Amino acid sequence: MNTDEERNARSARVRFVLVNTSHPGNIGSAARAIRTMGFDRLGLVAPESFPHGDAYALAAGALDVLDRACISSTLQQAVADCSLVIGATARLRGVSLEEWSPREAATRVLEAAERGREVALVFGNERVGLSNDEIMLCHAAVHIPSDPGYSSLNLAQAVQVLAYELRMAQLAGVAARVGNTDAPATSIELEGFFTHLATTLDDIDFHKGRSPRTIMRRLRKLFLRAQPDQRELRVLRGILADAQRMARLAKERIDDESD
Ligand code: SAH
Repeated sequence: MNTDEERNARSARVRFVLVNTSHPGNIGSAARAIRTMGFDRLGLVAPESFPHGDAYALAAGALDVLDRACISSTLQQAVADCSLVIGATARLRGVSLEEWSPREAATRVLEAAERGREVALVFGNERVGLSNDEIMLCHAAVHIPSDPGYSSLNLAQAVQVLAYELRMAQLAGVAARVGNTDAPATSIELEGFFTHLATTLDDIDFHKGRSPRTIMRRLRKLFLRAQPDQRELRVLRGILADAQRMARLAKERIDDESD
């Protein structure tokens, strides 16, 4: 499978479920929101008015998403085959449910979809949100960190924000896989780099009386955390070699001038 197919396969396991939606326009806007982010599965639990002209008007080009929306009478039915269900809540009402940030939720959703699990993101009614019984069906809650004094986003906009986070997580994952084709540097290569770095710092007179050990400890920590690959390490060593060359030239010039 190429990366597009992989992405599509993952997206196909993610559904956005709207519970008891009052305004059909919000259903249309939500369809558009998910479609723009590469998703197309919409679940509608007991919508107040659907099908409806307003839904189709606001869906713009995402009519296929509306046409294929799954309508059910309870949330339980809508998520029956899901092994990860996440409830989007404008506020938490003392329900002891793990709460994830949109970013964390996006990562968890994609990981689950990657493993072939069906996943649902569930959104409540415009006026009352999700009921406690509906929240109880969720494995976790996701909250968009809005202003606590005015925390409730429009339903379709909440769908958009979460679909966007999923898209970003998906693109970052693909980029990491595609971009990371160079083998990670081995420990011995990193040690060679650290030795080169330490010598270069001496050559350019970086320490000026400060402790070389402390700075090297900090720099080791930085590069070990970054886990450079072999190509990146070659670039870094190229920079060090040039810095050494320039230091040598500068020294030669000073020596010449003092002769
Ligand atoms: N008045 C309702 C909010 C309804 S908004 C309440 O206070 O619960 C409709 C739906 O949009 C919510 O049920 C939720 O699923 C989603 N939503 C709105 N704001 C959100 C936020 N800040 N974080 C996560 N989801 C949100």
